[in-house]
Amino acid sequence: MNINNSIQEKAKELLAKNSVGVVVGFSKGTINNKSTPFFARTPVEAEKLICDSNCTQNLATYLHTIERKGKIGILARGCEARSVLTLIKEKQLNREDVYIIGIPCQGVAENGELHSSCKICTSKNPVIYDDLASEKVEDQEVDRFEEVNLFEGQSSDERWSFFENEVSKCIRCYACRNACPSCYCPSCFVDQSQPSWFGKTNNLSDTSVFHIVRALHMAGRCVDCGACSRSCPMGVNLRKLTLKMEKEVLERFNYTTGMNLEEAAPLASFSAEDNEDYMREE
Ligand code: SF4
Ligand code: SF4
Ligand code: SF4
Repeated sequence: MNINNSIQEKAKELLAKNSVGVVVGFSKGTINNKSTPFFARTPVEAEKLICDSNCTQNLATYLHTIERKGKIGILARGCEARSVLTLIKEKQLNREDVYIIGIPCQGVAENGELHSSCKICTSKNPVIYDDLASEKVEDQEVDRFEEVNLFEGQSSDERWSFFENEVSKCIRCYACRNACPSCYCPSCFVDQSQPSWFGKTNNLSDTSVFHIVRALHMAGRCVDCGACSRSCPMGVNLRKLTLKMEKEVLERFNYTTGMNLEEAAPLASFSAEDNEDYMREE
């Protein structure tokens, strides 16, 4: 049975038994080589469900907004499963309210080649699931931080020039924020006017603040699914900053996002023995 048939069979069974009220997945889009997020609410609708390399969104992002009637079924590739786990850990979702159909993943395509996130992905198999739609795939061993290491090796002028060049393309449409499962605050700092944390324009100063704060908010919470980059209409390279955050969190806290439920999130925990030197006056 191919993976789409397997997904459809599992979803049909869950919906027919009312074990879930909806299955969040993808269906074929109206444009060639594009799939679209699709919510199947009946066994007949479940026949449209697919998951292939044209499915570019991270489905976990719909878990914040979907109208809940009963348990939610969701297709979850490796990165999406890590996002679901992160949402459970951050108490945005109860484990028992979601049924995860795990999808061992072959990657997402962009412009005819494997997306940059998928090229260095080391968690293609879901870490959390109730059922698997296919046999597990082989995970690769790669240096996830080769690109970040090269970036760190550049001079501060070169790094600033890269950053300036990228953020100056930004039109503040917030598609990247909306595509991200870890961006779920009901009132985002970019939208607030009282207080107004920073300006609403797309001049370099305002846009830089948006990108720096967004990247910091992702520390220990980004799974490098690449959905934000793929959603950006201006081709802003968002991954350089989020990958740097991932590396910092791994080196400082030995923590990788979304890998297990028990491990404390580094920026949401403390110990009385924590080094506080940085708070003391010299
Ligand atoms: S990062 Fe890419 S290869 Fe890895 S699980 Fe996600 S979609 Fe699949
Ligand atoms: S910041 Fe981008 S890559 Fe990271 S979890 Fe959010 S959408 Fe995925
Ligand atoms: S999606 Fe791209 S253009 Fe839109 S706010 Fe994000 S970085 Fe800026």
